[in-house]
Amino acid sequence: MKYALVTGGSRGIGRAVCVELARKGFPVLINYASNEAAALETRRMVEEEGGQAELLPFNVAEVEAVDAALMEWSDRHPEDYIAVLVNNAGVRNDTMMMWMQNEQWHQVLDIHLNGFFYVTRRLLKDMLTQRYGRIVNVVSLSGIKGLPGQTNYSAAKAGIIGATKALAQEVGKRGVTVNAVAPGFIATDMTRDLDEKALKEMIPLNRFGKPEEVADLVAFLASDKAAYITGEVISINGGLYT
Ligand code: NAP
Repeated sequence: MKYALVTGGSRGIGRAVCVELARKGFPVLINYASNEAAALETRRMVEEEGGQAELLPFNVAEVEAVDAALMEWSDRHPEDYIAVLVNNAGVRNDTMMMWMQNEQWHQVLDIHLNGFFYVTRRLLKDMLTQRYGRIVNVVSLSGIKGLPGQTNYSAAKAGIIGATKALAQEVGKRGVTVNAVAPGFIATDMTRDLDEKALKEMIPLNRFGKPEEVADLVAFLASDKAAYITGEVISINGGLYT
């Protein structure tokens, strides 16, 4: 069976992606860092749609934890493989660079950029052997345009964009596609502290996006219909920046 793994699947965009991929028929692995209650709620939502989901907690920034969890899963599923990987786990830790602490820089780089590397590297072999795979990286407008107060986050997301383009060229011949989606402002826990009323004035479509809208795009890129799209970064931002 072809499984889909969604990192950071317990909340926000990741949760919506889990539900949408389940609707498309994938058994879903819900990764998260610590919020088990939220991950269980995602599983309930997947099951409500008639889908199948398993929790797979690990910290994407800890290489040993990533390797152990994925190896243990493979041992339990000798007949299956993870054909769809959505690298979505993430945090913000914003401040002007002048005041940024080493920990703030490293935390964001570790979770986004190193996390992308640790998880993706482990799953590539099966995708290449099976000659089929879909990797979708959730990046950000911040990684394309840069946003003040987010040098750590912009650097991490821009790094993933570079890796997306390079990896797409490495694995294309084997039927594996690698793309990125770059959301603008999406209404989730991550943006709860922002002033939506003021910020939406800057957005041509005059609102924050919904996690489900990002999930539809991710699910399309994960589908057979997107077989000829690779190495792309697709913005979903209400026209904020293109
Ligand atoms: P969110 O609602 O805050 O959810 C974050 C998710 O990431 C949670 O499931 C969380 O797990 C998980 N996570 C955090 N650190 C992790 C780690 N070290 N290991 C494993 N999982 C971890 O965030 P969101 O808004 O949905 O964001 C999802 C992705 O979209 C992120 O990559 C973010 O940078 C990107 N993005 C978001 C926006 C936006 O406006 N919301 C815009 C552009 C890009 P727990 O529940 O266990 O904490």
